[in-house]
Amino acid sequence: MHDTKWVDLRSDTVTQPSAGMRAAMLSAPLGDDVFGDDPTVNRLQGVTAELLGFEAALLLPTGTQSNLAALMSHCGRGDEYLVGQEAHTYRYEAGGGAVLGSIQPQPITNQPDGSIALADIEAAIKPDDAHFARTRLLALENTIGGRVVSRAYLDAAIDLANRRGLATHLDGARLFNAATKLGIAPKDVCRGFDSVSVCLSKGLGTPAGTMLAGSKAFIKTAHRMRKMLGGAMRQAGVIAAAGLYALEYNVTRIADDHANAERLARGLSGIPGLVVEGAQTNMVFVRVAAEQVATLNTHMQQTGIRILAAPRIRLVTHLDVDAGGIDRAITAFKSLFVK
Ligand SMILES: *Cc1c(COP(=O)(O)O)cnc(C)c1O
Repeated sequence: MHDTKWVDLRSDTVTQPSAGMRAAMLSAPLGDDVFGDDPTVNRLQGVTAELLGFEAALLLPTGTQSNLAALMSHCGRGDEYLVGQEAHTYRYEAGGGAVLGSIQPQPITNQPDGSIALADIEAAIKPDDAHFARTRLLALENTIGGRVVSRAYLDAAIDLANRRGLATHLDGARLFNAATKLGIAPKDVCRGFDSVSVCLSKGLGTPAGTMLAGSKAFIKTAHRMRKMLGGAMRQAGVIAAAGLYALEYNVTRIADDHANAERLARGLSGIPGLVVEGAQTNMVFVRVAAEQVATLNTHMQQTGIRILAAPRIRLVTHLDVDAGGIDRAITAFKSLFVK
């Protein structure tokens, strides 16, 4: 068995709160946020709204609940949202929009770059006819599967949605990765969207928390949805303090995660038996033969590298993996595949 620290590449959600973050959580002034009394939550909501260029923002426990509250704020029973086949809000949220919101998803195949073709969006918008659900919302994601969607595409998609009377939501769970890659401010990634959801618990490294931002009227509705969904928390300032800390200290360092992902992609490319899909942000995808998966899983465990072994493995960099950890992972792959 390995004798040093695990290198955990399963997700950017596996990070531990740093000493500084824990100290901030411990000393945060608190109140009952259901009464609107928590000063730390209120501060985080204000800071986030400002940072993302919206009138208001709301703290929710998870990204899944934030996206669902957004869907339910934009759409009512019998409405429809257009969404990528690969999008988290369609594929990975247990069908919450349909189950809890009575909102019909209209999934559309994503292009290889993660976008949804404008012609496909056009074609999916239903006419005003009793046969159809009412198409109300276009939901996009950035980054999606580690890929960044360009600002030019977002402009075109938002323009189309506006022309056709649709609202727009951005699942920006990894918004700061997108902003870093595009080299623009977070609010410039959000520009034009009616609502944006941003996870604090991914690349930003907090133990929990997602921010939903939008107009005052939208956030007022989302606040009601959050209560309905059981997400109104009491002394939530302990979580908000971690978020404030993360926004102050963990945003600019996301560039390190991208550099480490590039280092990993470079180190793995050329290893026989691996097909590496290059790193745009903090994710590298590696394909291996199906019959190698079990062997690889055991081998990586033994060398202290945590991965989700599959025929297509997603390797994710984050603030608890440094360049040395990346090199250990590369060595572990090599020791199995290079004979
Ligand atoms: C993780 C993630 C979410 C959901 O966040 P949770 O806090 O895990 O519920 C939503 N969208 C995307 C793109 C994500 O990666």
